[in-house]
Amino acid sequence: MIIDGKKVAAELREELKKKVADLKSTYNAVPGLTVILVGEDIPSKIYVKNKEKSAIEVGINSEVIRYPANLEEKALLDKIKELNKNNKVSGILVQLPLPKHIDKRKVIETIDHEKDVDGFHPMNVGNLSSGYDSSIPCTPLGCSLLLKKVEKNLSGKHAVLIGRSNLNGKPMTQLLLKENCTVTITHSKTKDLKAECLRADIIIAAVGIPKLVKGDWVKKGAIVIDVGINKTDSGLVGDVDFDAVSKVAKAITPVPGGVGPMTIACLLNNTVECFSKAQSK
Ligand code: NAD
Repeated sequence: MIIDGKKVAAELREELKKKVADLKSTYNAVPGLTVILVGEDIPSKIYVKNKEKSAIEVGINSEVIRYPANLEEKALLDKIKELNKNNKVSGILVQLPLPKHIDKRKVIETIDHEKDVDGFHPMNVGNLSSGYDSSIPCTPLGCSLLLKKVEKNLSGKHAVLIGRSNLNGKPMTQLLLKENCTVTITHSKTKDLKAECLRADIIIAAVGIPKLVKGDWVKKGAIVIDVGINKTDSGLVGDVDFDAVSKVAKAITPVPGGVGPMTIACLLNNTVECFSKAQSK
């Protein structure tokens, strides 16, 4: 089974469109998402454009604030504080990476955690790891929705995560623990990655190394989610050798067209959630 992330993301956007229409008729207001882009990083510009387009499609009020790369940190923090107070803004996202002179941590901590649609604020990180209600980082949320399309009950499954970043591996661990999986987190210092992968019912690769996971690293019938996006001479590839692994896996996400489309759809989902929570306060 090839897990069609484009299709699942389109279904989620359709659901959100209906939800936004319902919220509009109930509250006479729609969710608002403000994205801040600092600098000229080309991939970031593309991501932000796609986020804006998708937000508009589902009826979210979308605003993009663009700043030059030499923006002073204080000006950015002041803008975030202003957006925190603006009740038309339900979600704030500062596109990463930021220019080196701006402290990413300060930026993340300045965003009101109730408007933190990326789920990076320490309050949301803590709530997620304690099993409480929180904003969930978009890519891991997308991965878990894709997993659920293959198998509703993940209880007792052994999941092996490759990569321990704050963006992917760590929040994914919490989501899988919530589903009663046994979770192994591997990383660059793991001694025998192949052996770890061979024990997995579920592999989630978020590394950034093209085709790292080989066909003979995967147990027959495992589910493989490939988060990696790597530009190579032969085009975009994931962290998994798709051709070889798809012969043994029960289900696998392609790159492109797997996890990628889910990330933006989950951002819209988080924006709608933040709006709904703010209304019901
Ligand atoms: P990162 O660089 O922050 O983390 C990479 C992780 O991989 C680290 O924890 C590191 O320890 C681990 N690692 C490095 N080499 C390893 C090795 N040889 N064996 C095992 N582990 C190793 O990266 P990230 O931000 O988590 O992104 C990972 C990948 O996912 C990148 O390709 C990125 O482009 C992609 N990504 C995709 C989406 C999406 O929407 N599909 C979103 C975010 C990131």
